[in-house]
Amino acid sequence: MTRRLHHLIGGKLVPSSSGRIAPVYDPATGEVQADVGLASVDEVDEAVAAAASSAMAWRSVSLSRRTEVMFRFRQLLDERRGALAAAITREHGKVLSDAAGEVARGIENVEFACGIGAALKGGYSEQVSTDVDVYSIRQPLGVVAGITPFNFPVMVPLWMLASAIACGNAFVLKPSEKDPGPSLLLAEALADAGLPDGVFNVVQGDRVAVERLLDHPKVAAISFVGSTPVARSIYNRATAAGKRVQALGGAKNHLVVLPDADLQLAADAAVSAAYGSAGERCMAVSVVVAVGGVADSLVDAIARRLPALRIGPGDAQDSDMGPLVTAEHRDKVASYLEEPALGDAALVVDGRALTAAAPADRSGFFLGPSLVDKVHPGAPVYDDEIFGPVLSVVRVADLDEALELVNASPYGNGTAIFTRDGGAARRYQFEVECGMVGVNVPIPVPVSYYSFGGWKQSLFGDLHVYGPASVDFYTRTKVVTSRWPTSVGSGVDLGFPGTR
Ligand code: NAD
Repeated sequence: MTRRLHHLIGGKLVPSSSGRIAPVYDPATGEVQADVGLASVDEVDEAVAAAASSAMAWRSVSLSRRTEVMFRFRQLLDERRGALAAAITREHGKVLSDAAGEVARGIENVEFACGIGAALKGGYSEQVSTDVDVYSIRQPLGVVAGITPFNFPVMVPLWMLASAIACGNAFVLKPSEKDPGPSLLLAEALADAGLPDGVFNVVQGDRVAVERLLDHPKVAAISFVGSTPVARSIYNRATAAGKRVQALGGAKNHLVVLPDADLQLAADAAVSAAYGSAGERCMAVSVVVAVGGVADSLVDAIARRLPALRIGPGDAQDSDMGPLVTAEHRDKVASYLEEPALGDAALVVDGRALTAAAPADRSGFFLGPSLVDKVHPGAPVYDDEIFGPVLSVVRVADLDEALELVNASPYGNGTAIFTRDGGAARRYQFEVECGMVGVNVPIPVPVSYYSFGGWKQSLFGDLHVYGPASVDFYTRTKVVTSRWPTSVGSGVDLGFPGTR
């Protein structure tokens, strides 16, 4: 019988009774390994009710006790790294070493949450008027929800839930229905760390569950990570319902290589950042911008590296790159290697051919790495977020043209420049319209004590995720003006209160 994945509501596993299910594939074999019950509106309401009924008690728990739970949670995640990585690989398909990296980057967010006390400090102004003090305090929002994508089933939920819960909120997670299993391992670790039942809940589901969360009057804030069209609609609907929203969308990340760059370093970086996790990373490099005379040798250096990449099941020790998440997604990615998606570009390495070199099991959702040269804006291979192992090369004359190209993109998640010229790097960092910039670093995902977020259509909302911005997102400020009467009476005064 197929294993079924359930909701976690109020500390209990709750099977869905909606009658709707979705398959959970093993991307390496193409087989259905489990299925997941998709929540009805009533089931979402149950999860929100469980969160709401525990929210007041949780925010009343002392900060030191809340921090203690986070420390224990961190410890358990550390001990369970292997199991978490295996669970990611099983449903997502990425190779184990990459899954372990995801877990490590997720744990960083719990480490930030362990120090939440310092970030939650308010402000105090003494004697603003005679005997009057003013102070500001940060309070949690109540029930907050997170809606997460398939590509980081552990790290992205941790981006959200660690700070949200440490700040004193109750949380409802709606993970991707494509790889829902790891969400339940996070729930287990939180429970084992001593988090009271109901503070963290998981509703498995699809659009039905998402829309109910967006409309639910008791959900105060929505954190979303996923594709741009969905991010935009989530932002519009949830803000119209009066909620605080951060909706992170898709990306098309450019890596600019100047003629003075260390070419081997740049080629290694381009290959690692383009094909790691089969290109299914929001910070993957999908466009190399070759400046000046660097293009021919750079394209050659990248192409020479591709046949050495070993494509195979994520849990095989010698695999560098696993399969894509579903057959449908693999086919969509492959469609960019054909006319008319290519435009007048040149297909230098065709990943469909390299697939044949993959291990015997061809029924998995494998696609080899592809390299496309002489790409121009306007062709779908450039314009669309492909989210697979396809790297485009755009040739430009100089840094001005590179900046113009990158800044014209509707996306602004991450970008990188490879050069030995500090002045050029500084100019790029100063002028480029992106939220995260790497200088000789290809995937500049900030450490957890900074925050993560793109510009333009890569993020709808004002605040980035995790780090200091998450404390602003998951709390609201209350300002108290206070006077403790002395023996001298003040008398009645109908004037507007002044400050003397
Ligand atoms: P997706 O937008 O298809 O799904 C994301 C979440 O939204 C899932 O939980 C899904 O169930 C839900 N969803 C999907 N369609 C919906 C709809 N019509 N209405 C309401 N909810 C809906 O994204 P995905 O395919 O799971 O993930 C890949 C995408 O996520 C890529 O575009 C990638 O760039 C993006 N991403 C962005 C970041 C970032 O930080 N900016 C990080 C990771 C992934």
